[in-house]
Amino acid sequence: MKFSIWDKGDEESRALSARFHEQAARYGLESDDEQPDIVVSIGGDGTMLQAFHRFRHLLRSVSFVGVHTGRLGFYADWRKDELVELVRMIAEARPNIVQYPLVQAEYESGGERFVQLALNEFTLKSAEGTLVAELRINGEPFEMFRGDGLVISTPSGSTAYNKSVGGAVIHPSLEAMQIAEIASINNRVYRTLGSSIVLPKHHYCDVQTEKPIDLWMDHLLLRLDDTRTIRFHVAEEKISFARYRPFPFWNRVRESFIT
Ligand code: NAD
Repeated sequence: MKFSIWDKGDEESRALSARFHEQAARYGLESDDEQPDIVVSIGGDGTMLQAFHRFRHLLRSVSFVGVHTGRLGFYADWRKDELVELVRMIAEARPNIVQYPLVQAEYESGGERFVQLALNEFTLKSAEGTLVAELRINGEPFEMFRGDGLVISTPSGSTAYNKSVGGAVIHPSLEAMQIAEIASINNRVYRTLGSSIVLPKHHYCDVQTEKPIDLWMDHLLLRLDDTRTIRFHVAEEKISFARYRPFPFWNRVRESFIT
């Protein structure tokens, strides 16, 4: 079993990372940052987003596990004081592999075609003032949007930015993507549905604009000056999480937002 640690970079996470390496050596686990079987993120949800993008090219073979140094995270559910137990589990236990859907964005820029994946969401904003965009679903015109932006989220990302703009929380066993509006302007020319919509895996949405776009892919900003159409759909690839004990999604939602 080969592992790689991706830590937040602060003193506490680095110390935990060193401790993990120490413990792992006792169990004969091998550290490998190029071809790991398991990636352990130490920090918070933001750290898991970074780990996902770092190891995106290995999604078919790698699984992720998250340790949180602050409050409980959606992707980071092991406490820092459980680190030794986690190393033992990785060395000795057979995890349950849980797969979550991702959202894919496809576009052209500078004559090249790009295919990007998000674990939480893509957020589309205008690089110059208000975003004006036509949404087409499965090739058919749907609505003309004008406003601050659009959040196109995965089910596991539905509790992040999507939730802040009034989108629904979706269980990650549903292969779907959600499109939520950020402050749409509605008048006779620009008319949107006003509520978020959930698309199944076999549907796609094209967003067409006339102006440069700021496309946020999770925490990463991509400035697209010459892109006019972006196609979004549920990705074929999924992220795998190694679960060494059950922690149902709805319990995580309750513990993060209610109790
Ligand atoms: P950050 O450090 O500002 O983190 C934002 C917060 O979002 C953190 O508290 C984190 O725990 C939480 N979070 C991240 N993923 C989550 C998830 N799937 N479910 C519930 N909470 C989640 O920013 P970052 O670390 O760079 O993370 C980028 C993320 O921040 C984006 O993917 C986006 O979802 C989120 N974000 C939210 C808002 C908002 O709610 N208004 C605005 C911008 C970005």
